[in-house]
Parts: sequence; structure tokens; C-alpha cells
Amino acid sequence: MNCKDAEKMISPFLEDDLDNRDLAEFLKHMDRCPECKEELTIQFLVLVGMKRLEDGNTFNLKEELDNMLRDARKKLKVRKYLVAVSLLLELLVAAMTVATVILTVALY
Ligand SMILES: [Zn+2]
Repeated sequence: MNCKDAEKMISPFLEDDLDNRDLAEFLKHMDRCPECKEELTIQFLVLVGMKRLEDGNTFNLKEELDNMLRDARKKLKVRKYLVAVSLLLELLVAAMTVATVILTVALY
């Protein structure tokens, strides 16, 4: 499973709408991909948080969030590294875009 597939499954996962095979693949990906895990955390807070506010039951959510944050803290080091790498890639893409524009202008 790649990140694109995993991201598509975040919403079904939170709705408990994945079959066993997809769920296993999804959890496997979440274990080794801090970026998708972070996306899961954000969507968890938005989706589950809204529902809990409607129910007036925010206590459990706070506990769930604490568990998630504890888990996130362990992976913070890896995540920081990934953020640096993705920033570097963004810079590279930006540089390539500029180079393409310069080449296009130079050709005409
Ligand atoms: Zn991923």
C-alpha cells in the first residue's frame, strides 16, 4: 500500500468501514509511515472531535487524544526528519519549475 491508498482509507477507517484485509494493510502502513499517521491524527480530531462535541462527551476524546499524542511523541524524531526531507523535495520541485520557465523563455 502506498501513501495515496492509505490516505483514501483514513476516512473509511475512522468510520469503521474497512474490511479485514484493507484494515490490516492500513494498520501496517500507519506503523511505518509517520506522515500518514499524522494525517490520520488530524482527521481523527476533526471527525471524532465533532461527533463527541455533539454528544457532549469530550472526556473520552481527551483520553484518546492523549494516547495518540503519546504515540506521536515517540515518532517525533522520525517525523522531523521527514518534514525536512519533504521541504527539501518542495524546494527541488520549485527549482525545477523555475528552470523550466527559464528554459522555455530561452528557447523562444
Ligand atoms: Zn504513507
